[in-house]
Amino acid sequence: MTETAGSEGGFIEVHRRGLMLVLSSPSGAGKTTISRRLLSLEPSLTLSVSATTRPKRRGEVAGVDYHFVDPTEFNLMINRGEFLEYAKVFDNYYGTPRKAVEEILGRGSDVLFDIDWQGTQQLAQAARDDLVSVFILPPSTRELEQRLRARAQDSAEVVAHRMSKAADEMSHWAEYDYIIINENIDLSVARVQAILTAERLKRQRQIGLAQFVKGLRDGQ
Ligand code: 5GP
Repeated sequence: MTETAGSEGGFIEVHRRGLMLVLSSPSGAGKTTISRRLLSLEPSLTLSVSATTRPKRRGEVAGVDYHFVDPTEFNLMINRGEFLEYAKVFDNYYGTPRKAVEEILGRGSDVLFDIDWQGTQQLAQAARDDLVSVFILPPSTRELEQRLRARAQDSAEVVAHRMSKAADEMSHWAEYDYIIINENIDLSVARVQAILTAERLKRQRQIGLAQFVKGLRDGQ
């Protein structure tokens, strides 16, 4: 990411390090909708497409929503060190392919991760300075259950299992930088955008600022 800035005499480039934006929530709290909206509004934000051993749901597209792989392939990927992080979530394995993230950051884009608390902890260990983590909470347990039922993609058994897991997931809220209670999708998207904008402007992420300010002071 380059923000070219300068005055009459010439341009001094101020670069910015790409950041890694994590969105976590219990399933059904609206995270996927928020992520999709955010991606359509933020051209320099790219989704990290995870690999998973979970079966594909109706409407999901391989390579877009997930890379669907079998457990053997997933294990091979672990052994080859291809994951930046991986975890078992609801009896299936999910992992973030390292190469794709490096490519996105390398071309100056920011990366969006839709991962659970276990993955967030691993990313925080690997790259704390570049990580911005946001936890999305449902407005109430009732609402969460309704959203999971309305989705009706998973069996009743799966919904019940996910409800019981939601409490576990939510117990990790305090490990995140920002918390959003998702009462209204538009408002929640605007809030994540506000976080993104502020985090992008953080002094620590700007490279070349000292030279830029020197140029301003020297009247360049
Ligand atoms: P779902 O099966 O509903 O798509 O996702 C289930 C959970 O797995 C969600 O909380 C999602 O954020 C999490 N998840 C998806 N991809 C990854 C990943 O690559 N790593 C980790 N740690 N969690 C993931």
